[in-house]
Amino acid sequence: MPSAPSAPVIMWFRQDLRLHDNPALLTATRLGPVIPIYILDDEHAADQRMGAASRCWLHRSLDALNQQLDGHLQLFRGPADTLLEQLVQHYDCRTVTWNRCYEPWRINRDRIIKEKLQGLGITVHSDNGSLLWEPWQVLKRDQTPYQIFTPFYRHARDSVPVRSPLPRPAEIALAAVTPYSALKLADLELRPNHPWADKVLHHWQPGEAGAQQRWQTFMEEELLGYGEGRDLPAQPHVSRLSPAIHWGEISVHQLWHDAQAIGHEDALAFQRQLAWREFSVTQLFHHPDMDRINLDRRFNLFPWHDDAEKLNRWQQGLTGIPFVDAGMRELWQTGTMHNRVRMVVGSFLVKNLGIHWHHGAAWFWDCLLDADLANNSASWQWIAGCGADAAPYFRIFNPVTQGQKFDPHGDYTRHFVPELAKLPNRYLFCPWQAPKGLLQECGITLGGTYPEPMVDIKVSRQQALDAYAHMRQAT
Ligand SMILES: Cc1cc2nc3c(=O)[nH]c(=O)nc-3n(C[C@H](O)[C@H](O)[C@H](O)COP(=O)(O)OP(=O)(O)OC[C@H]3O[C@@H](n4cnc5c(N)ncnc54)[C@H](O)[C@@H]3O)c2cc1C
Repeated sequence: MPSAPSAPVIMWFRQDLRLHDNPALLTATRLGPVIPIYILDDEHAADQRMGAASRCWLHRSLDALNQQLDGHLQLFRGPADTLLEQLVQHYDCRTVTWNRCYEPWRINRDRIIKEKLQGLGITVHSDNGSLLWEPWQVLKRDQTPYQIFTPFYRHARDSVPVRSPLPRPAEIALAAVTPYSALKLADLELRPNHPWADKVLHHWQPGEAGAQQRWQTFMEEELLGYGEGRDLPAQPHVSRLSPAIHWGEISVHQLWHDAQAIGHEDALAFQRQLAWREFSVTQLFHHPDMDRINLDRRFNLFPWHDDAEKLNRWQQGLTGIPFVDAGMRELWQTGTMHNRVRMVVGSFLVKNLGIHWHHGAAWFWDCLLDADLANNSASWQWIAGCGADAAPYFRIFNPVTQGQKFDPHGDYTRHFVPELAKLPNRYLFCPWQAPKGLLQECGITLGGTYPEPMVDIKVSRQQALDAYAHMRQAT
């Protein structure tokens, strides 16, 4: 007698938009014919719903995944709990698989979904597809999370093995079912009808194939020199994989083990940066309100000077401080910003302009293709001085000397601030110090072709230091 065909298994893709090293997909393919789905769940995300740039990326990434699945990816829009209940009943499924996500709203939602499905007699398999170390694996002896990165990293690296990447399923038997969802990709309305959307993705190839290609190129041509080069925004020594890592188009387990196999100092430096992401996720897991609340509560008393006009000039890259403007324009034009420059523009907003880090984080959230709740919140708290292992309050990046040091030939700054291109390096980062005649020769009018600096760097630095000193005395 032929054995009864096994019931279809729902594989719920989330931040794991790949076939290779995908534990939940591998489990699904072993248990039965697969129904692959994606749910755009803005209802549960509420005020942490994706920003505009992330949506553009997701649009292209879902398209790529759907092609890999021969057009069988079913798309849904709405609250995931209700949709999943309907789906398992409609298809008479016995199993649902997914890889875990770690944003607090997703953790809460997924717990409820799991209980509901189990109540219906459904087995739920959840796996780790996106972290080297789960947030509960690397804790101090007293079972609290590390506040300092280096001991966190040493502990993790030396005592919690990173599992090897899993193979891509030899064959994905897709369930021969009529789609329950009639939604097409365009119906998710992820891509705004704005020329910015095309422009911002111009230099990127979202999806698993693009991520693998980027990684190969980086390993072969750019990784050597990463340790020092990763601080120089004009150099090609960073991987630019952060959006692909965020969406799980490439697995961090693969990155870790490939880097381990290469083994030179630059590869080890790259592993260390991967671990910063793990540190951020661990922080967010243990402080679920980290995107809103200062980890160092003393900062609740800090006297921020929120000013819409100043914020607007910062967002537009019109502060009159060239290295800051270069970074903010890079963000707007390309959907990313080099890490060194993120630190400099962040410090300028929070410390020189005295504007709350929430505003910087919100702008990044909307504009970054790699917007990630854990990394963004942790990094902004770090910049403001109130986060884990934060920059001490007295470390205020000087955007002039940072530019001179990390963009020594001015290539990066000239590219994004072309109106200053003719200025010699000596004045490129501080055009207000250039002799009038030279400015004229270079076709620059401060306050005309390029803005006057919106604050005096030394004066605003001192004001920040005074405010911090006051806060420390008051707490
Ligand atoms: C204010 C601010 C906001 C940030 N917001 C985000 C964000 O929303 N999303 C995001 O992914 N990163 C964020 N970062 C961290 C970092 O800037 C980016 O991860 C990095 O620039 C991505 O470029 P890359 O892929 O070329 O990095 P590479 O240098 O090639 O590093 C490889 C990977 O390691 C991880 N990584 C590297 N540096 C860091 C870091 N400092 N913290 C955490 N993870 C790191 C990323 O996943 C990155 O893709 C932020 C940093 C700052 C200062």
